[in-house]
Amino acid sequence: MSARILDGEAFAARIHGETSARVSRCKKRGVVPGLVFIRVGEDPASRAYVSRKEKRAQEVGIASRTLVLPESTPLNTLLKEIDALNTDPKVHGILIQSPLPAALPNDVVYARVSPAKDVDGFHPVNFGKLLLGDASGFLPCTPAGILEILRLGEIPTAGQHAVIVGRGQIVGRPLALLLARKSPGADCTVTLAHSRTANLAALTRQADILVGALGRPLFLKQEHVKPGATVVDVGVNRVNDPSNPRGYRLVGDVDFDSVKAVAGAITPNPGGVGPMTISLLLSNTVRAAEDLHP
Ligand code: NAP
Repeated sequence: MSARILDGEAFAARIHGETSARVSRCKKRGVVPGLVFIRVGEDPASRAYVSRKEKRAQEVGIASRTLVLPESTPLNTLLKEIDALNTDPKVHGILIQSPLPAALPNDVVYARVSPAKDVDGFHPVNFGKLLLGDASGFLPCTPAGILEILRLGEIPTAGQHAVIVGRGQIVGRPLALLLARKSPGADCTVTLAHSRTANLAALTRQADILVGALGRPLFLKQEHVKPGATVVDVGVNRVNDPSNPRGYRLVGDVDFDSVKAVAGAITPNPGGVGPMTISLLLSNTVRAAEDLHP
């Protein structure tokens, strides 16, 4: 048996089509959805991520640009830039690319973005709304993208046991809340595992839906997976590879080759969660514009 591939690129293309149509409707009303990326420093991976997201934004008709600041930017300067974007009527979404330089406190910076423009869903107000089940907030893009993969991949969720490995703030924790919601496309029984979880493999083998969000290269192997389970690979890990011109390659948290032989469905990596994260970011941006100009 070989698992069905949950093709994130194909799903993302469907969402981009819908987003593009929503952008056209906004433009007919004289509103051009605008998205600004803030990149602090010259981390090569961040540069690549931001330029990919900016390109996709432009493809769906969103006016997007990147504000690049030097690594040494003082906190006050960055906060002033965010304040200016918060009050700029042409800007509907603001994304601060992580990681920030160590000298800049993440919580202070992310909390400065207006919750109405926080299309990444990281602001405490939006996190709080997620916890309360208040749909007026923005959902964090990666967990929301995973729910869309399950929906478009026609994976049943109600009553299913979802095991998420990794309780990080960006993926594992919000995903646990989303999958446990009393709602179509959710209603899972959720287990949130982490580095202190005992007998991890015994637990993951009980999963109908298994999500790797721990950031450990190829960590989840065949012995972690129940036959027929749906496996979602979130991880993006850099491993040394002298044969690659860059000297490294990116791999996920799931050992795709061994797991696909037992899983019922699996996301490829790359080409699974990553493209969906971008789709949800663009969809959130258009929603921010729609909310402001109903
Ligand atoms: P994070 O905040 O560092 O959290 C990692 C989590 O994994 C922690 O809860 C940690 O446990 C747990 N963990 C680490 N080693 C473990 C082990 N051996 N067994 C069980 N649990 C273990 O990471 P994150 O920001 O959530 O990101 C997770 C991964 O997703 C990263 O590879 C990241 O690059 C990737 N990611 C991908 C996308 C995308 O669009 N594709 C978006 C965001 C993130 P403790 O809490 O006990 O330390």
